Amino acid sequence: MHLNAQLNAHTRAALEATDEDLIVFDLAGIEAQYDSLLRELPGISVRFAMKSCPVDEVLSRLAEKGSGFDAASPNEIAQALRTGVPADRIHYGNTIKSDGNIAEAHRLGVRTFATDSLEDVAATAAHAAGSRVFCRLATSGEGALWGLSRKFGCSGTDAVLVMEAARSAGLTPAGLSVHVGSQQMTSEAWQDAFERIADVLTELNRRGIHPDHINLGGGLPAAGYLDSRGIPLDPPLDKMFAVIREGIQHLGAVSESPLDFVMEPGRHLVADHGTIRAHVSRLSSRRQMDGEREHWLYLSCGKFNGLYEMDQLQYRLLFPSDPGTGHVPAVVAGPTCDSDDAYDHRHNRVSVPGSAASGDPVWILSSGAYATGYMTQGFNGFDPLPYTCVEGG
Ligand SMILES: *Cc1c(COP(=O)(O)O)cnc(C)c1O
Repeated sequence: MHLNAQLNAHTRAALEATDEDLIVFDLAGIEAQYDSLLRELPGISVRFAMKSCPVDEVLSRLAEKGSGFDAASPNEIAQALRTGVPADRIHYGNTIKSDGNIAEAHRLGVRTFATDSLEDVAATAAHAAGSRVFCRLATSGEGALWGLSRKFGCSGTDAVLVMEAARSAGLTPAGLSVHVGSQQMTSEAWQDAFERIADVLTELNRRGIHPDHINLGGGLPAAGYLDSRGIPLDPPLDKMFAVIREGIQHLGAVSESPLDFVMEPGRHLVADHGTIRAHVSRLSSRRQMDGEREHWLYLSCGKFNGLYEMDQLQYRLLFPSDPGTGHVPAVVAGPTCDSDDAYDHRHNRVSVPGSAASGDPVWILSSGAYATGYMTQGFNGFDPLPYTCVEGG
């Protein structure tokens, strides 16, 4: 991933043009990323995971491209509908919903629901009668920066019971889904997921249940992050796509009925196409209790206003006013009175310009995912970041 590829002329111009902090989304970059995903996985239906970037302009652009949406609440469904997509391109992908949530989604026209328990199936039958359900299988989350295990998904054995219960309750047992964990770094996780799906599919077919689709969830990585030690995360994307293509073929052969394949990418589509313009709050140097002198670079943005994931990963930082000499190793942190609002400082220091002065601009790359939705309503009085969209390309 070349920095220049991320910072195209339009993004750079928007960053240079502002004296205020903001986040810049490159719509053409997101569009190109969508096209590239479809080239890698031809025929797949994309249901963009809205929570990763609930920005109207981004959603509308994806909708124009043919994307649908993975929504997790009635409010997300309403936002997806505002792009003009028909309700049948939106599914309720959250296994966690109250009776009221289900009824509201149904009222809004959604007819496809994720599930993973008998309780949820009964509620769906009661409040969204006749709908389609897909059952989420548990995964270990191994190999991902954020494993999404335990809270969601059920065992293969339970999945068979859930799908049978759905059929008995007058719902359509329409599919199976997985999520291999967010920013998944291994192709093996996909391999495991396909094996799990194949086993359940075979058992369902044996019992006369014929799902019409498989939902491979999210988890596809962004390319531009550094890990918490500052080392580039270099996900083996080519290998992952090869494993996914193979898995799709294999499932198609295993299934007794034709299968469509759905994916719910979030960060993969947007992370590398968002850039934050922040500024230096202060570069300071303090002797710690252990006697070590540490530099800390406090930025105007941190965990609570744009960099929610900064305690788990690091972003590439550009200092446009860097004279290029006299760098110092510093811990990077946000501006609030919360110690989680910082890079993980046990492992490494970031090389920053020793001349960094209060007010100097800082450009934060690959910060387009899980930025806007996670911003607090001004924690400690630091406002949520505004955003702007550029065409880039
Ligand atoms: C969050 C989420 C996604 C998107 O995950 P990414 O790792 O950002 O791709 C997809 N599907 C579901 C059900 C999710 O909860």
